Amino acid sequence: MSSLLQSPTATPGRFGPYGGRYVPETLMVPLFELERAYELAKTDPSFQAQFQDLLKNFAGRPTPLQFASRLTAHLGGPRIYLKREDLLHTGAHKINNAIGQGLLAVKMGKPRVIAETGAGQHGVASATVAARLGLECVVYIGTEDMARQALNVARMRMLGAQVVAVDSGSRTLKDAINEAMRDWVTNVRTTHYLLGSVLGAHPYPTMVRDFQAVIGREAREQILSAEKRLPTHLFACVGGGSNSIGLFYQFLGDAGVKMIGIEAGGRGGQLGEHAARLAAAQGFVGARPGVLHGTYTYVLQNEDGQIATTHSISAGLDYPAIGPEHAWLADQRRAEYSAVSDEAALDAARLLSRTEGIIPALESAHAIAGLIERSPQMRKDDLVILNLSGRGDKDMDTYSRLL
Ligand SMILES: *Cc1c(COP(=O)(O)O)cnc(C)c1O
Repeated sequence: MSSLLQSPTATPGRFGPYGGRYVPETLMVPLFELERAYELAKTDPSFQAQFQDLLKNFAGRPTPLQFASRLTAHLGGPRIYLKREDLLHTGAHKINNAIGQGLLAVKMGKPRVIAETGAGQHGVASATVAARLGLECVVYIGTEDMARQALNVARMRMLGAQVVAVDSGSRTLKDAINEAMRDWVTNVRTTHYLLGSVLGAHPYPTMVRDFQAVIGREAREQILSAEKRLPTHLFACVGGGSNSIGLFYQFLGDAGVKMIGIEAGGRGGQLGEHAARLAAAQGFVGARPGVLHGTYTYVLQNEDGQIATTHSISAGLDYPAIGPEHAWLADQRRAEYSAVSDEAALDAARLLSRTEGIIPALESAHAIAGLIERSPQMRKDDLVILNLSGRGDKDMDTYSRLL
């Protein structure tokens, strides 16, 4: 265990062979500047006080850890607790990281933030924090996603952000990130790139994880207080990987705690039909280590190394790469990854709504589906914490159409 925890810090920004900083020369300087600002912020009492204040009074932390008694009874397997990140301001865990990076932008004297968004949740969180801190905000979104996420686009505009439609490539998240990186190269002096997950070049994967690790710190205390023991299993959905690593991180040293990341299995195993990067054992093909958006990790690609198109019913999981720390945790077998289908996620969303009175985000519904599939093999004294990363308001069109 200790070797696992030590090696990522042996080389900053590396998780075993993964991670790193693969960017054009012009971005090295702002990345060093960001790394330095983040290192200082870690021990800066005024930064930490502002961060804690906004997490508590603006975002609504701590979030509850709720015993899901009816879901537990329905599945007849392990005891299930839900970490209620869906109750946060703006409806998902994304606000934790947006607050941290927004404060860093202020510290660095940068009056402008840019962000990419797929489902619109990170765009909304960024626009929200920018408004609160008095920063200019520009959000890049693919035109394909823009149509799927009209409500979130309206929210970003209401908050004063400029929303830029990206019409290149597959017109989704990957293309929005390309555009945001282009903007950053041009405007580095005035602009901070507020990246939304544990992706991109160092220091992003480490920094975003640290901002999200509050989820697991709270959950660990809460479960010890409620059950007087550690959980046996953690479940979370994995897009880029920020809500899952946010839950997992505080438990990495607890050898008895199994960690299960659930990816988007979409419509099936063929390349282009899913966004499962670490579920090869289940027949999801196409993922190999490679570089995308500044980091070395598992990437869905064809035989020539062209980035594959992906599919998921959930825009927040629909991305061809995974955070480099997850690639390393998978190699080490410290965490397990598997994928569930669009259909299983829809069924899980309906089940949670009807047993617990909580309509989950489609992303979070994947984690629930993963738990449902696994619960027959689990014991009654197993103890689960499932990260409910977001609420389902944004997905009501999809639910109404398909259920
Ligand atoms: C964005 C999003 C995700 C996926 O992103 P991660 O970085 O993997 O957490 C999951 N759930 C919700 C509700 C989201 O908005």
